[in-house]
Amino acid sequence: MQTLTTVAYNKNEEEEKKLILREYRALLRALKQRIKKGDKELLRRAFEIAADAHKDMRRKSGEPYILHPLAVARIVVEEIGLGVTSSICALLHDVVEDTEVTLEDIEREFGSRYAKLIDGLTKISNVVDLKAETTIQAENFRKILLTLTEDPRVILIKLADRLHNMRTLSSMNREKQLKIASETSYIYSPLAHRLGLYEIKSELEDLSLKYTQADVYTEIAQGLKETKRERTRYINEFIRPIKEELERNEFEFEIYGRPKAIHSIYNKMRTKHVAFEEVYDLFAIRIILNSSPEREKEDCWKVYSIITNFYRPSPERLRDWVSVPKGNGYEALHTTVMGPAGRWVEVQIRTSRMNEIAEKGLAAHWKYKEGATSVQESKLDSWLHHLREMLSNPDTDTLDFLQDFKLDLFTEEIYIYTPKGDMRVLPKTATALDFAFDIHSELGARCIGAKVNHRLVPLSYQLKSGDQVEIINSSKQKPSEDWLAFVTTAKAKSRIKYYLKEEKRKIADDGKGMLHRKLDHMGAPASPHNLNELCLFYKKPSLLDLYYGIAVGNTDLKDLKEFTVQNDKLVHTVKEVKADTHLLTAEEHVTKPKPAKNAELIIFGESSDKILYKLAQCCQPIPGDDVFGFITSGEGLKVHRTDCPNASRLLTNFGHRVVKTKWAKNKEISFLSGVRIIGMDDVGVIQKITNVISGELKMNMRALSIDSKDGIFEGNIKVYVHDRDELDVLCQRLASLDGISTVERLEIEDKE
Ligand code: MN
Repeated sequence: MQTLTTVAYNKNEEEEKKLILREYRALLRALKQRIKKGDKELLRRAFEIAADAHKDMRRKSGEPYILHPLAVARIVVEEIGLGVTSSICALLHDVVEDTEVTLEDIEREFGSRYAKLIDGLTKISNVVDLKAETTIQAENFRKILLTLTEDPRVILIKLADRLHNMRTLSSMNREKQLKIASETSYIYSPLAHRLGLYEIKSELEDLSLKYTQADVYTEIAQGLKETKRERTRYINEFIRPIKEELERNEFEFEIYGRPKAIHSIYNKMRTKHVAFEEVYDLFAIRIILNSSPEREKEDCWKVYSIITNFYRPSPERLRDWVSVPKGNGYEALHTTVMGPAGRWVEVQIRTSRMNEIAEKGLAAHWKYKEGATSVQESKLDSWLHHLREMLSNPDTDTLDFLQDFKLDLFTEEIYIYTPKGDMRVLPKTATALDFAFDIHSELGARCIGAKVNHRLVPLSYQLKSGDQVEIINSSKQKPSEDWLAFVTTAKAKSRIKYYLKEEKRKIADDGKGMLHRKLDHMGAPASPHNLNELCLFYKKPSLLDLYYGIAVGNTDLKDLKEFTVQNDKLVHTVKEVKADTHLLTAEEHVTKPKPAKNAELIIFGESSDKILYKLAQCCQPIPGDDVFGFITSGEGLKVHRTDCPNASRLLTNFGHRVVKTKWAKNKEISFLSGVRIIGMDDVGVIQKITNVISGELKMNMRALSIDSKDGIFEGNIKVYVHDRDELDVLCQRLASLDGISTVERLEIEDKE
């Protein structure tokens, strides 16, 4: 499928027809074993409707549009493992959105079950609405989740749709590529991860990386290619004795080495600050057993025992997800052992059933639903239940929710026990208070402390896997603002915010009474116009804030003297607000646009408009970096690097505020950047470094700080450069000094 779009598209009508039919037949072949009586006609009908509806449409690559729904349907079947109903929906997934076909047409042709699924797909299809406001983006994401909890198939088809779009992203323009790739890494790959679709998740991540950081991607892909022979040799050497022993024990199995995803290698390089050559666990060994359901666990441990007879395991890296599966259903036994030549090798042991779950996630659960009394299924169910509960709360702020939810998707899990011995799965960062909210939101709200393993601890106590926790509560307790600082689960956060808002509302009620009485006294009605006028005057973002301010006394009703009433309308009579009134004290932090400080020239798009901008502090871009412009609400245009830690969040949530930017050639202006150096501490090291910077390269150094410990030093140097090339030269030159082991660009940790 992928090759279709990577070659330039030129086919005549006849060839096109053949190609489309070939793809359709391939879909039928993939579905072969699942097709029951009558299915074929339905599939044919869906294909015909879609082909006809899209007949005048083409993809950006030039190929007929219908190839896209066909490809999505094949992914749905071959890579996710869904059946006929889902294939039909995949074929039709874009017709209601993009063509004349209506939902009623679908209902008439296929019935209400299909119409409902297509409706779900249509509702979430416009998440990449570039012009949409932030809140609409967030609202769309909420919709995705809502549909997910209604029928998970919708989200699985949506993931297949996204996967195919990512696979064919090369034909889009750069701006679209960046936005779609960012959105994918922001929302879709975490979602695939949460649903246990590991294969799809890593492909999505790799593809996102390919478009957001092409140079990094190519470097790693190239590195993997070059080291392939050597790696294969090593894997074979490692596998040989295990294979023989497994055969002797009459196991039915498959064993192979598998390179890690490019994205995960990149993460390792970045978090451990190492070069590609230094990431040595580039692969994992996987053993897949053909085991009967009742022998699965025993067999996995037997294989573990055989492996560790040959290679010494690292005890702290044993992961038993066979006895206790992960929250997303993943089951396997992972161990890391010392292989030949002193290299650590990760070994994953699974049965073929577990393997299918690892690859197809949620869909595989359904297949095994009957028969197995599986722990993982109920866990997935409880996750969906919990999600539904949060979404049904109308007061949830969608943007906040999105942020919290994302945190939930990513974190590792710990297992916590109730006093009765029931197990709950929580993210690794969970505190005693998170646990209380996880049990019940009322219990969370009344929590005053906890006993962890029979010992009294504060609410903020961070739990460890295996802890047994008893919650102590009091009916007098109330949630407070500072609780937000130490809860980490989305559930606890959203509940606390909800309580606080309720509390604020109660207090605001008093303020409302006070204001209405005052207005009454003045002879002015509490009309929307008048209330709005007052919000503007007191600079309050909402009526609730106005009432609340009055109730707690930081909004002074004496200022109403400045108003007169004309025709029931409040009119402000004092023209100028003096600078020393209280209005400009508490509310003064409302930011005013300031003139850009280091404004210079860059070119936008194809035209050569020259525009003022500021450099984002979070990533400090310099000319030569891949960048985009972001229109802020108070400080004009800010330029970020595409690999900025905030990039994917901004591109996804505020797509409409992003503008394409390019650097102008300019050698007159210097930009502040920096390098981080690690090396052996010796007497002359600082002198050598400063010689290179100021002497040899004649660069302007702004700050230098060196930390030294046990013979190793780490230095941060801030320096002015003209562009990326100059910074690269500096890095290369410093790296060539004796005793220097790492030189890399200094990432400034400040949040935007
Ligand atoms: Mn589509």
